[in-house]
Amino acid sequence: MNYREKGNKAFVDKEFETARQEYTKGIEVTPEDPRLWSNRAQTFIKLEYPELAVVDAAYACSLLEPKIISGEYENADLALLCKSRWREAEALAKCNGFDLAASALERLFQIAYRRPVAGVDWNALECEKDRYLKEHYQNTMLLNNLGSDRYILVEQVGKICKFPSRGAYPWDIRSQERCTPESSAFVQKLLDKISGKNIKMSLVSFPGASQPQEFGIIATKNIKKGIILLDEKPLISVHSPGQLQCDFCNKSTSSKSFSCPKANCSEIFCSDDCFDKSWKLYHRAICGKNLDLLYAIVNKESKNSGISLLVVFKIFAIAKQRNICPLDIEEIKHLFPFQHSTSWFQHGLMAIDFYIELMKLLEIPIFDSRYESWIYLTIYRKLKPNSVFFNPLTSTGQLYPIISLFNHDCNPNARCSDDTSKSIQRGEPFPFAPILSTRVEAARNIKKGEQVFINYTLGHDFSVLSVVSNTVKSSGSTKKTRQLLETTYGFRCKCSMCDSSSN
Ligand SMILES: [Zn+2]
Ligand SMILES: [Zn+2]
Ligand SMILES: [Zn+2]
Repeated sequence: MNYREKGNKAFVDKEFETARQEYTKGIEVTPEDPRLWSNRAQTFIKLEYPELAVVDAAYACSLLEPKIISGEYENADLALLCKSRWREAEALAKCNGFDLAASALERLFQIAYRRPVAGVDWNALECEKDRYLKEHYQNTMLLNNLGSDRYILVEQVGKICKFPSRGAYPWDIRSQERCTPESSAFVQKLLDKISGKNIKMSLVSFPGASQPQEFGIIATKNIKKGIILLDEKPLISVHSPGQLQCDFCNKSTSSKSFSCPKANCSEIFCSDDCFDKSWKLYHRAICGKNLDLLYAIVNKESKNSGISLLVVFKIFAIAKQRNICPLDIEEIKHLFPFQHSTSWFQHGLMAIDFYIELMKLLEIPIFDSRYESWIYLTIYRKLKPNSVFFNPLTSTGQLYPIISLFNHDCNPNARCSDDTSKSIQRGEPFPFAPILSTRVEAARNIKKGEQVFINYTLGHDFSVLSVVSNTVKSSGSTKKTRQLLETTYGFRCKCSMCDSSSN
């Protein structure tokens, strides 16, 4: 028996974990066999990892679709494509993504519309799509009836969305190793480089938190109001494709400025220095590659900042260049993945297309276990709640792994400052220039040993409104603030302000 047959036997015997292992072994030998991907998708559904089933089913389809489009296919190929899209839709529906489930079937109709194929009932598939659309409509109505009160939504989420929310996958041993002394020491060194040694990182505990201990920043001496605690340059900067901006730091450059010296690479940088840094960090892995297809996916996604996917791409490029798993990148290892495992759904099915395309571009074999789909999803979830600043006005994004260490308080003793908010304070018009670094400064006197907090709802979302409110309004724990913390950052604030106002 080959691995697929062994997997099939285990599946029939309802030994789904064994089936998953057999299909995975098979994928390592023959990754181009769509049957293995499609069957592993079904196994992931049984194992209750529908979000992973989505990726496998989509991958099976990406192997089959070109054949169908070119007309050079056998009936078995078309039958398997139908089965795989149907599984993808089923998995999406299990994640409450009913609209996405309908789009998956629509995608199938557009490619194979009613071509007769044994074992496929097109009418049944159309009914299935209608059912998903109906479910989507009912869900939307349900959410509308709850009003804009997302606070209630979080309370009710168990009733509405049956899909479990996980901090980490059970096999993700790295998430247990996240707060080890070794990883703390490495991050402390990075912190020392950019801070005036007024602060250090430490393990702190929170009442009622799911994690027993979490990283935090502590004052090592008495700090006066206004003192700059650190000035961090982003680890990764991204901007929307096609802009004349430095690939490393986002600085606007003219077309005549420094471009990559390697033949057949057209990437531009603002200086030798930025080229060197980018070459050492990630550029070697993507130098000279044609990114058009990847950018086309990003450009399709305008309203939900598709550029956040480019941060994931650069993280994968760093990992490829270092020949390690993205979760082992020391600079970001400490980031805590707060968000629900379906958070990437905001990008729709294109988040999956993006994954498949980035693996091709970086020349990573799709079966390489260091870059599996759950790792892609985990990296995505690590970014959203941490210090990735997206500025929709300049269409840029930046990842600040050290500022991510600060915990939240609605009445914080420190704040993020940057050139943008400073110039707004001075009454200057909003500068549409990218931000090159972000400082954290003491908002009031801080005593030695005190934990240093920032307010996530003021600094992290660089929309015009939040930048303005950052300067005019000091702080406040409104219901809206608490909702934002729950829905975006995934925790219920227990700070003194929230405690007093929740009564
Ligand atoms: Zn630059
Ligand atoms: Zn290059
Ligand atoms: Zn609070």
